[in-house]
Amino acid sequence: MTITDAVAAQQPLVQRLLDDVAEIGRDPPGITRDAYGPGENLAHALLAETARDLGLRCSGDAGANLAMRWDTGSGAKPILIGSHLDSVVQGGNFDGAAGVIAGIAAIAALKAAGIAPRAPIEVLALRCEEAVWFGLGLIGSRCLLARLPDGALDLRHARTGATLAESIAACGGDPARLRDATPLRDPASIGAYVEVHIEQAPQLIEAGAPVGLCLANPGNVRHPFIRITGEEAHTGLPHRFRRDAALAGADLALELEKLWLAEEAAGRPMAITIGRFHTPSERHSLTSVSGSFTMSLDLRAYAPAHLTALEQRLGEIVATVAGRRGVTIELGTRSAAAPGPMDAMILAGFEAASGAAAPRLNSPGSHDANNFAAAGVPTGMLLVRNANGSHNPYESMDTGDLMAAIHVLARWLAG
Ligand SMILES: [Zn+2]
Repeated sequence: MTITDAVAAQQPLVQRLLDDVAEIGRDPPGITRDAYGPGENLAHALLAETARDLGLRCSGDAGANLAMRWDTGSGAKPILIGSHLDSVVQGGNFDGAAGVIAGIAAIAALKAAGIAPRAPIEVLALRCEEAVWFGLGLIGSRCLLARLPDGALDLRHARTGATLAESIAACGGDPARLRDATPLRDPASIGAYVEVHIEQAPQLIEAGAPVGLCLANPGNVRHPFIRITGEEAHTGLPHRFRRDAALAGADLALELEKLWLAEEAAGRPMAITIGRFHTPSERHSLTSVSGSFTMSLDLRAYAPAHLTALEQRLGEIVATVAGRRGVTIELGTRSAAAPGPMDAMILAGFEAASGAAAPRLNSPGSHDANNFAAAGVPTGMLLVRNANGSHNPYESMDTGDLMAAIHVLARWLAG
């Protein structure tokens, strides 16, 4: 059987798994598969059962991730195919799950075609990718690669209130091992990490392409609580006397947007999101000039040097706006995540496997792949066309488009 026919023959398996994980997470109008909880656990059990039927060896690790390994007899470093099975609350079915299912289906296709790949292959179901459960995302891959920030094991689950350490232990993991700075898997022992994920923007719909080759995942700098302090005043105060915190917030937001558009025009992709933007509800009124203002900022870019330069520009813009408006601007708490550039060899391999038809694009979102790339593992990602974004019940992926990604993945694994 040709590889193309063998992949096509997996469509019923893929559809069944997509339907079964949807059933596990059913929470109308969306899907909820809670991390380190029954939803994620049932999805892990379902895929482990399927993997065993395919002759794969299943094992857990200290972070309670699931590895499904095809020992091909090759002594080469293994190729890992990962993604996650948790979802946000009332999210969609495909963010994460489609990628784990793609890995299983690619192996099933290679086996059906009688092809022995060049290295052992492991499909990973990584725990708790979504940040909603503990206020921290990508937890499974952080556990695997010793990239948990200090205090992470003490974070509490949004639903159960259990700490991350307790939640990991309840799912068969070993939180004590995770306090060790040594990775569960030595990055140097991993041949490659690849991930299939739905696209979370409409770029592939715009391009009319089922599959895209990911160039990089964004890193970010986040300031959740920016505080602007001016002077509260009466509506009658003339403009020249005002130190208006609300207008300073608006000024800052528009200056940041100007920066964004200028960078885009110069061919340096980035994004700015101001998710919270408000005067204090206990003080604000129709007839007062606001003396204080609060906003959040998520600044993302695809290259470490670009992100550093943008953060410097942010500092300059803050100083300019503060001076112009007579206010003080405190950026407050800062968190950061490294960008995840994809490996050029894997990208070229995916391109050859796709018949050179797939567009290259940046991923709108961060993924577990970021942690592997940051750890120095050669990393690649395939993005699958998807309507309506993600983290909502209306994300929409055609199984046929996922099959196209599985075809690229299987051909690359075979090559
Ligand atoms: Zn995801």
